[in-house]
Formats: sequence, structure tokens, C-alpha cells
Amino acid sequence: MQALTFHNKHELHYESIPDPAILKPDDAIVKVSHCAICGSDLHVYHAHEQGLDSGTAMGHEFCGEVVEVGRAVKNLKKGDRVMSPFTSSCGQCFYCRKGLTCRCEQGQLFGWVEKGEGLHGGQAEYVRVPLAAGTLVKIPEGMPDELALLLGDILSTGYFCADQAGIRPDETQVVLGCGPVGLMTIWAARKLGAGHLYAIDQVPERLAEAERWGAKSINFAQTDAIQFIREMTEGRGADAVLEAVGQEKSNRLAFDLLRPGGIFSAVGVCTHEHTVFTPVEAYNKNLTYKIGRCPARFYLEKLLQAAQDDAALLCSVFTHRYALRDGVKAYDIFANKLDGCVKVILEM
Ligand code: NAD
Ligand code: ZN
Ligand code: ZN
Repeated sequence: MQALTFHNKHELHYESIPDPAILKPDDAIVKVSHCAICGSDLHVYHAHEQGLDSGTAMGHEFCGEVVEVGRAVKNLKKGDRVMSPFTSSCGQCFYCRKGLTCRCEQGQLFGWVEKGEGLHGGQAEYVRVPLAAGTLVKIPEGMPDELALLLGDILSTGYFCADQAGIRPDETQVVLGCGPVGLMTIWAARKLGAGHLYAIDQVPERLAEAERWGAKSINFAQTDAIQFIREMTEGRGADAVLEAVGQEKSNRLAFDLLRPGGIFSAVGVCTHEHTVFTPVEAYNKNLTYKIGRCPARFYLEKLLQAAQDDAALLCSVFTHRYALRDGVKAYDIFANKLDGCVKVILEM
């Protein structure tokens, strides 16, 4: 099959790799109809995260049609249209039962093969999905692939970020980053009744999007965001900051924006070695710090209806569409924020 594969920093190939096969009775094979590029793929692309084997199929946002199931998979059959969270999960272990499906005892991240172990990704014609009965969800009749892709990762992630932030209508919330995850976070914060919602970035098109999605935008390259938010909060700072960037600087900004007793909710993946605030700084702020991978399998089901209600807005996050064979170019455009690109969808 054809796939977009990792080789080195900024070096992806569109090439032929072996077709996936059923390896265990609880596997399924999905023929991908659409896939998308995530900000998390950029950590791999820029080689911030080490270890991925050369030749690994990239990506973890995909949907498509079941073409084969192992003998233990009873709830799915050939021909079912399915979506997938970005990690596999069994649905039965301690963590899955708690709704922390991202920490499933047997869970794996799609698009991560290291020393021959792990899962190939969804930026390919076919994907092997382990624990298929617990991982895959049938796409409801009439739901477009675009929405199914969003539910499998960034829509769920944005909601998770807002859910952790203890949103209250009488308080001030700040979303850091107006990339795809930041926009989903704005949507979710509004759903959860955000009071005074601000969003920070420096890319003009993305700030304009943040306004369209319902936040007041702040360009941190032009405005002193900390001073601005203090002025809006009688000198205190934000009640909650929702971090959707994952850089050292954005993390420090998030910390500095918060009032004492505030909540720092982070979904941005920061690969820096240390936290940007010290234990005593956190102590002196009575900080609540919530961070982690989104349990997308848990949120995906919870959000099915709300997502369909706002499908037009949510799907408008996809600004660019390419064929999988043009995926190398698509990565360049997304990674470098060229041509007003916010999010890319790839079709077969
Ligand atoms: P993206 O790179 O497209 O967007 C990040 C945005 O942050 C950009 O618009 C950039 O201009 C802006 N930015 C950079 N520095 C900033 C700063 N100091 N202050 C404010 N904004 C700043 O990425 P994305 O697809 O939106 O993903 C965002 C993050 O979310 C990534 O780190 C990704 O790995 C992570 N992520 C986490 C999960 C999870 O489960 N926790 C899931 C999906 C994505
Ligand atoms: Zn992702
Ligand atoms: Zn599990």
C-alpha cells in the first residue's frame, strides 16, 4: 500500500510499504477514506521526539471502512464506516473503565513504531487497529468524514482541555494558541459556559479565526498579554488558562497569566526537559496544574451530538485539502503556516 512515512527530520516519503494484516484475533483492518495532519505530527516532523523508526507510517487522525476483522471482534463487520481515537484502548481495564482511555493498559499510539514495536499510522491506505472492539466507533449515518476525524483527536482534546479548566460563566479564561486545537478549545470553553474568553496567538489569520469562533483575540507580538489580562481582571490575572501550544515560552506565559488559585489546563505537548515554573512558584500561586494526553475514546462518544449540532463551524477548521500522494507538500504548508493554513485533510 501507499503511505506517508517518517525518515528523518523534515524528511517524509510517500512510498509503498507492506499492507497491514490481522495479527491478533482482536484486530481490524481499516481502509482509510480520509486522514488529517495534527500539531502532534509536527513534533515528529521537527524530530523533537526521538525514537521513531524510519519507514513508520505517520499520523493518528483517520477514518474509513472496515475491510477485515479478527475472529474475536464481534461488534464490527466488513463495510462498517468507522472513526478512531488516536490511541487504541480495550474498553475494559481499570483505566478504560475510569474514562482514562488514553492510559489503557494495552493502549498504543497510532503512527509510532520504535525498534520494530508499535503501530503504524493512519496517513496510509490501510491501518491495522488492535483492540478494535474497544477502539473503533461506527460513524453515525450522515456524519461527514471531516467531523469523524475531529472527534478522534482535536475536538475531543479541546473539550478535555476546557473540561479540566473548571470553566465558570462569571470568570475569565484564556486559551493559549489559536491553532486547530486552540480553536476546538475555544468551542468547548463556550459550550461549557465560559464567561470572559480570550485567545492568544501571533498569526493574524488564526487570531481572526479565534474571533469567529467566539473569543476575544490578543496578539502577543503586539500587546503585553499579561498586563492586558490583569487590566481585565482588577489586577488579578486569569481564573483559568487553557494551554494549546506546547512550547516553553507559551507555558511560562500561561503560568504568568494566572491569578493565585487559578487553574492551568494544558494539552499542548511540551518536549522541554523541565517545567517552566518552580515548585515554590507553584506553591506561591496555589496553582492547580492539569496536563496530559486526551482520553479521546471517552470524549468522542460523549460529544457525538454536540459535534453534529455545530458541524459546519467545526469542519471549517480544515482550510486545505490534498491527496495523500501530495502529503509531503501538505506537511510543509501546515508546519510553516503557509497560505493561511490552519488544518489539512488528506484524501485517498
Ligand atoms: P499548531 O502548531 O498548528 O498550533 C499552535 C499555535 O500556537 C500556532 O498557531 C502558534 O502560532 C501558536 N503559538 C506559538 N507560540 C505561542 C505563544 N507563546 N503563545 C500563544 N500562541 C503561540 O498545533 P495544534 O494542532 O493546534 O496542536 C497544539 C498542541 O496540542 C501541540 O503541542 C499538539 O502536540 C498538542 N496536542 C495534544 C493532544 C493531547 O492529547 N494532549 C492532542 C492533540 C494535540
Ligand atoms: Zn493529534
Ligand atoms: Zn483499557
